[in-house]
Amino acid sequence: MNNELFEKYQIFTEQTIYDLSQQVILLEKKLNVFTNLLEISKYINQYIKDQNLFPLINDMLIGVFGAKYSTIYIKIDEEYIEATPKTFSYSSIEEEKKLILDHMEKKFIINSSTPIYNTPNEEDSVYSCLGVPIKIDHRLLGFILIQHKEKDYFSKDHATFLSSLANHVGVAIENNLLYNQIKESAYRDGLTGIFNKSYFFDTLEAMPELNQLDYSVVMIDIDDFKSINDTYGHPYGDIVLKEITAIIKHATRPNDIVARYGGEEIIIFFYNFTDREKVFQRVEGIRKAIAQTVIKGEGMSSSVTASLGVYVKDHEHLTLNEVIKKADDNLYVSKRAGKNKVTLS
Ligand code: GH3
Ligand code: MG
Ligand code: MG
Repeated sequence: MNNELFEKYQIFTEQTIYDLSQQVILLEKKLNVFTNLLEISKYINQYIKDQNLFPLINDMLIGVFGAKYSTIYIKIDEEYIEATPKTFSYSSIEEEKKLILDHMEKKFIINSSTPIYNTPNEEDSVYSCLGVPIKIDHRLLGFILIQHKEKDYFSKDHATFLSSLANHVGVAIENNLLYNQIKESAYRDGLTGIFNKSYFFDTLEAMPELNQLDYSVVMIDIDDFKSINDTYGHPYGDIVLKEITAIIKHATRPNDIVARYGGEEIIIFFYNFTDREKVFQRVEGIRKAIAQTVIKGEGMSSSVTASLGVYVKDHEHLTLNEVIKKADDNLYVSKRAGKNKVTLS
């Protein structure tokens, strides 16, 4: 049934891309940069099943527009969620979301004579911003924001071009989400609802360039979980596991992979997130959130801690298993140091 559904979407995609291509042919006469559009659409479709579709599209947008920054937001449950990691500090996610809402979630161009955001460093200031909604069948799927430090950078033609691209991105997002949905049902852990270990390895090992990429892996193990089970009972232990995974999911981005690695061990794959300080802060945030959460259930109320081991792969040639081993070694450093700790090396 699922394959059928996916095939239907493939046909829909091809039709939509064909329609868009027809529109593009008309537009090409206006702006020679449009000739790239079909190439781009091919590129997007090639990566439709890719877990890293959004960062790939984002990198492509930066290249095509010669822009400084680009962010793709996906709208899930009325919330804009960043689908691409932010590795710079010229504006906050909140400021960007406000910009989108201030423009009624419609296409906009800002060419400002003063910096759009308040940034402490003048060299980080952004003066031009182009935003377009990502839509399919009038459904709002997300938003693309492209920004530049130069003044008067974006023109109407840029906006038309990006809108056209956003249609392709919309189809790609739908396909990507659907494909992942189908794949996911076989790859979900029954208790916690997060991915299982097979998903983790199948997805990452399917990426041919993984050994060349930079990423971080976090291994998490609940402290003294056996005694939680012994003291409060196995059903309460199950509730603890569910709560902990929910906390971890909440602290990660949509395209990070969070999977149940073993009984009470959870693994996180942070794609393209290798700023050691920021990674540490994010993981430390998870540790604190776990320790501070009071978990209620089965007529009981308690809290647990977890030990975490992190490894940041940055310009090294290491296999996924080698990186996991290093994160796991760091987890045991945290355990030996008295638990409820994050170790990053
Ligand atoms: P440490 O701090 O060293 O990690 O100690 P620990 O007690 O957490 O470690 P250990 O590996 O000895 O125990 C893990 C426990 O996790 C044992 C097992 O019964 C429990 N466990 C594994 N999966 C589940 C599950 O799905 N539900 C419940 N309730 N418990 C589970
Ligand atoms: Mg364990
Ligand atoms: Mg444990």
